[in-house]
Amino acid sequence: MKNLWTDEEAQKYKSDLELRVFTSNLLGRSDELVLHGGGNTSVKSKVDAENILYVKGSGWDLVSIEKEGFAPVKLDTLIEMAKLESLSDSDMVSQQKAAMIDKSAPNPSVEAILHAIIPFKFVDHTHADAVVTISNNKNGIENIKKVFPNFLIIPYVMPGFILARTIYEMAKDYDWSKSDGIILHNHGIFTFDDDAKKSYDKMIAAVSLAEKFLEDNAKVEIPNLQAKGFDLDELKTIISKEKGYEVVLKVNHNKEAIYYASQSNLKDSVTKGVLTPEHIIRTKKIPLVLENSDIQNAVDEYKKEYKAYFDRYAKDEICLNPAPNYAVIKEFGIVCFGKDEKEASIINDIVCHTISAVLKAEKLGGFVSISEKDSFEMEYWELEQAKLAKSAITK
Ligand SMILES: [Zn+2]
Repeated sequence: MKNLWTDEEAQKYKSDLELRVFTSNLLGRSDELVLHGGGNTSVKSKVDAENILYVKGSGWDLVSIEKEGFAPVKLDTLIEMAKLESLSDSDMVSQQKAAMIDKSAPNPSVEAILHAIIPFKFVDHTHADAVVTISNNKNGIENIKKVFPNFLIIPYVMPGFILARTIYEMAKDYDWSKSDGIILHNHGIFTFDDDAKKSYDKMIAAVSLAEKFLEDNAKVEIPNLQAKGFDLDELKTIISKEKGYEVVLKVNHNKEAIYYASQSNLKDSVTKGVLTPEHIIRTKKIPLVLENSDIQNAVDEYKKEYKAYFDRYAKDEICLNPAPNYAVIKEFGIVCFGKDEKEASIINDIVCHTISAVLKAEKLGGFVSISEKDSFEMEYWELEQAKLAKSAITK
């Protein structure tokens, strides 16, 4: 994994926040670390004698974030929040907003409390492919411990307040001075330091270790296969009807996609779940799997299974459109569905990273994502549902 820091570029940045912008952009430039809005970063700084956490605001991508993209939140308030027994995520969001010293700044990341309790100035968080590939596995915890002996390792917990609270409790007797970082099982990695460069360097070093481990233990040879024919027009018509708008298709015929779509036991092999939880908002938990030419029947089955999954866990949530967001087509490749070119490409990027990880993870014993229940909780997180409810009212 390439370290993109250069002193020449760095010298343009002086203040804490400027350096924070710089190394956030560096993290964002590597798509094997974060994709499309993934990951978050922060810096603790003083403003008028008050300790402030500048944390990535929602709606910003690390690769292009600027100073205005960081939400300034009172650090002490966030630390007090970590001590609460319970707090709903919507209450967390409103209390975080109330503690902002600039109300026109974007909403702070849902991980703001977690950033606050890590006792270092710079905190970097990514969903590095190599780390989650090792973690999302039958032997995940064991291998993660082997690769990252000096990291605090947290079993999967839903992001948001509960994750911050869990780490707050686990870290009470923890010697942060001896820590290289935190691994969130099935989710990602944190590094930190009082120096911007060192925190970034630690991220690159840690992810390089994970890459080396995969290189040594999970090398995948992709054969050159020829894609079979497939009627994309019919697929587009059916998915557009199901979604209620004309979808844009993004067709992926690269070597890896064809190989992925040519595995035996195709349905079992490609429906193992997401690489990191937030991807579920874009891709849903599983793709449509097409093994024969009866597209409508396969889509009907998919919707039936999706509704059954919804019913198993739903309390008062609003059901999302049950149609798939991408398809794996036997011996053809992968097709993603977006409301526009951009959305279809975003889904395709995420799927590309996921399939590489799944193929490698099989070499390590088998890819295992978060449970179906945890997937539901992420997909129907109240913060996401609130956005849906809002758009239903404004329509
Ligand atoms: Zn994350």
